[in-house]
Amino acid sequence: MSDFRTLCVHAGELKDEQYGGATSPIYTSTSYPFTNVKIGQYPRYFNTPNQRGLSNKIASLEGAEAGMIFGSGMAAISTAMLSHLKAGDHVIFQNDLYGGTRNLIKHEFPKYGIEFSFTSGLNAEDFAAEIRKNTQGIYIETPSNPTLKIVDLKEISLIAKKAGIWSMIDNTFASPVNQNPIGFGIDIVIHSATKYLGGHSDICAGAVVGSQSSIDKVFSSAKNFGGSLSDYTVWLLERSIKTLFIRVQAQNNNAQQLAEYLHKQDWISQVYYPGLFNHPDHKIAKTQMKGFGGMLSFDLEPNIDCEKFLLGLNLIKPTMSLAGIESTALSPRLTSHALLSEEERQAQGITDQMVRFSCGIEAIDDIKFDILQSIKKQFHAN
Ligand SMILES: *Cc1c(COP(=O)(O)O)cnc(C)c1O
Repeated sequence: MSDFRTLCVHAGELKDEQYGGATSPIYTSTSYPFTNVKIGQYPRYFNTPNQRGLSNKIASLEGAEAGMIFGSGMAAISTAMLSHLKAGDHVIFQNDLYGGTRNLIKHEFPKYGIEFSFTSGLNAEDFAAEIRKNTQGIYIETPSNPTLKIVDLKEISLIAKKAGIWSMIDNTFASPVNQNPIGFGIDIVIHSATKYLGGHSDICAGAVVGSQSSIDKVFSSAKNFGGSLSDYTVWLLERSIKTLFIRVQAQNNNAQQLAEYLHKQDWISQVYYPGLFNHPDHKIAKTQMKGFGGMLSFDLEPNIDCEKFLLGLNLIKPTMSLAGIESTALSPRLTSHALLSEEERQAQGITDQMVRFSCGIEAIDDIKFDILQSIKKQFHAN
């Protein structure tokens, strides 16, 4: 069993020994016989049968030795980082980061005496330039949110290896269907499972995968931080991942078609999608991504009101989250990146007219129609 599609369905599944049913049974117990003196079986120790099964499933999808699942993407991110850092250490972050991650760094790290820098750009030299004596690691996110910039995985892993430090990636936007960073030498891969892994906008969870030794390190802090995921949700997430490949494949196709369509419209000034031949990082994306993902962004021409455009959509939901089987859209300036200053947004290339779009699995013609009818409403109103 090694084909990705088969792993999505079967990896990590638990056998129903009692009744022979087709799906993994759910074990909700918080109390197990005390057989191992070192570490008993307990949900907060991340080792219940369902937790282990799902961790193995996600690890196998990323080609990793081991994995852990968490109560949210941020629990996964904070635990992965803090388990690998202590007071006096320094970490390098790419400048465009998920808003929650940026808040974690800016608000929590100073309290613990952890130093950090954000890179000035996304080229390998920009990362190498930030290395200091006390630098412990590099943390990246590619494609980035919401401008879909690409960071070269191989170059980052080489820089990290040369400096003897770790590399971590938030692989949420790509999903394991489109990008497996471990094969490019990245040490630790993190997912907000709330997004593509869950895929139906009804689960909040996170995952961290890597070598056994790095996961052991994450675990040693995780049991103290306590960010474990309930077995009910574990079970639902395992069920969701069975369709991960076909969902993301459909989202890739829709996003590519939508990007090409929008690129030709005169009410759009720019489309950001790594699958477009004119995307500045298209070449790098092609070398490290199997598909270009279901996320894209676009800038509306200045004569179109961004907020009205979002409110004028009928089928597409103007909501915060992303990666569900239903298409959603938002304005980064008004929502996901509202906490950033004007300058910070500018530095990341986030414009006031930008719409971030998460492609669902609806018919592409229905998605295009909905966007167009909302645009037309504004011209009629004017
Ligand atoms: C949503 C998201 C997160 C945070 O995940 P939660 O499950 O909301 O905690 C982290 N990184 C990226 C790229 C995300 O989209």
